[in-house]
Amino acid sequence: MQRILSSPNPLEVSELKQRLEGAGIACLTRNETLGSFIGVVPLTEGVPELWIEDDAKMADALRVKQNWKAEDSVAGSPWVCPVCGQTSEAQFTSCWKCGASKPGA
Ligand SMILES: [Zn+2]
Repeated sequence: MQRILSSPNPLEVSELKQRLEGAGIACLTRNETLGSFIGVVPLTEGVPELWIEDDAKMADALRVKQNWKAEDSVAGSPWVCPVCGQTSEAQFTSCWKCGASKPGA
C-alpha cells in the first residue's frame, strides 16, 4: 500500500479518490475529517491522506493524479473578455475593465 496524496483539504482527497475509483484503482482514505470531526480534531494532526491499495497500480494512479492536476490548472487559466479583449485572471468572474461576465461563468 502506498500513499499518493496528503492534503489539508479533504475535498481534494475525496475528489482524487473518485477519479482513481473511476479508473478502477482501489484506494482508501485515512484521517478523513469530513463530517462531524471538524472542530473536534486539532487541524495540525491527521491531515487527510489517500492510499493506493495495490502497489502495482501506483503508476496508473500517478497518471490519474497528473491529469487531475492538469485539469486544475486549465480551470485556473486567465481568460479573454469577449467584449473588449482584455485578459483577466481566472479568479475574476467578470472583466475588470468593462464589467462583462466571464464566458461560461
Ligand atoms: Zn471587458
